Amino acid sequence: MNMDFDLPEDVVAVRDMARKFAADYIAPNARAWDAEMAFPDELIQKLGELGFMGALIPTEYGGSGLGYLHFSAIIEELAVHCGATALMVAAHNGLAGAHIKLAANEEQKKRYLPSLASGEYLGAWCLTEPGCGSDAANMSTLAVKDGKHWVINGAKQFITSGVRAGVFVVICMTEPDKRAKGISTFLVERGNPGLKIGPKEDKFGMRGSDTVPLTFEDCRVPDSAMCGEYNKGFQHAMKVLERGRITIGTLATGLARGAMECALAYAKERKTFGKPLIEHQAIQFMLADMAMDVDAARLLVRRAAVKMDETGEANFEAAACKLFASEIATRHCLNAIQIAGGYGYTKDMPMERLMRDAKLCEIGEGSSQIQRMVIARHVLSKANL
Ligand SMILES: Cc1cc2nc3c(=O)[nH]c(=O)nc-3n(C[C@H](O)[C@H](O)[C@H](O)COP(=O)(O)OP(=O)(O)OC[C@H]3O[C@@H](n4cnc5c(N)ncnc54)[C@H](O)[C@@H]3O)c2cc1C
Repeated sequence: MNMDFDLPEDVVAVRDMARKFAADYIAPNARAWDAEMAFPDELIQKLGELGFMGALIPTEYGGSGLGYLHFSAIIEELAVHCGATALMVAAHNGLAGAHIKLAANEEQKKRYLPSLASGEYLGAWCLTEPGCGSDAANMSTLAVKDGKHWVINGAKQFITSGVRAGVFVVICMTEPDKRAKGISTFLVERGNPGLKIGPKEDKFGMRGSDTVPLTFEDCRVPDSAMCGEYNKGFQHAMKVLERGRITIGTLATGLARGAMECALAYAKERKTFGKPLIEHQAIQFMLADMAMDVDAARLLVRRAAVKMDETGEANFEAAACKLFASEIATRHCLNAIQIAGGYGYTKDMPMERLMRDAKLCEIGEGSSQIQRMVIARHVLSKANL
């Protein structure tokens, strides 16, 4: 069997475009966005012009029509300099956009996807609630039929890009007795009087990307706002998360690579005991472990991305890449701080920010414990691995 580990030329071209943009525009600004807990409109406009806001959206709806291999190359490059930017693009494409692409009808796709693709507005994907995250089927946000409308009451928690979103993909109970089989999805537009957007969370990391609570108080939407079939919302949400985990895996890989690159540059300059840090074997070993793990994470991501692009499924592969990449990212961002010593512990160097960003990858879109549960289910279901 001939296995080719080189990226196809078109993926390299997209990656290089993302790499240049990230180095020229994101790197000089990421620290300020972290401190201010906000992105400028200009960032989203530029990402839209590059085709990154619509990366996964089909060309017939104004997107770039790329697959997960291309998208993972983009997200890794953005994350090298700013996890928050990468998260905003990942959630917009990989959660909100992906759910609409997967489940919406033609009319809904025509209504929302072009504006999401251009970055005119962001999409927000709303599954988590104050009372449930990992066990999402235990949700209590309820949609009740009222004539030709549905009325939504409840609350969602930790919603990425809620401040700017133009459309909210809201996953609600429609038949509570059926639990996971009684859940449906609705598209709620910004400005709906029943939707209240709460204040931004003051987070540890991923600070440029806003995260907000939402409250739904008699939020009325027409029948036509149902996205996907009645009571199929949870099934679609799980498929969306499977895809989303590939993007979090690549995001984490980018953070680990960013920290490694900073640590390497610093170790070449800094001298201790009469020679550059890089010449001390203990430092070389830390860098060797980083390089090996970044490479392994990227290979796991690419395997999951290729499988998703080719078959539309990558349950085990997506969980494995997310789990591995997010855990090595946190570990190696901390190691990068160690290599830079006291300077690494300040905000003058990017490592501490990358480390704070990395921790989210072990929590969002299914925590490390949840990924181990998915992987264990796969292991138990296979006689031969
Ligand atoms: C910055 C940020 C952005 C987010 N963006 C979004 C978004 O856009 N949309 C959205 O819907 N959600 C979003 N989330 C929510 C995120 O997906 C949840 O936080 C995550 O799924 C975990 O849920 P939880 O916080 O309720 O933790 P819990 O489910 O309460 O879990 C708490 C801890 O217990 C562990 N645990 C839970 N059950 C088990 C078990 N059975 N066995 C062992 N350990 C277990 C978990 O791994 C975790 O460590 C975001 C969160 C953050 C922090």
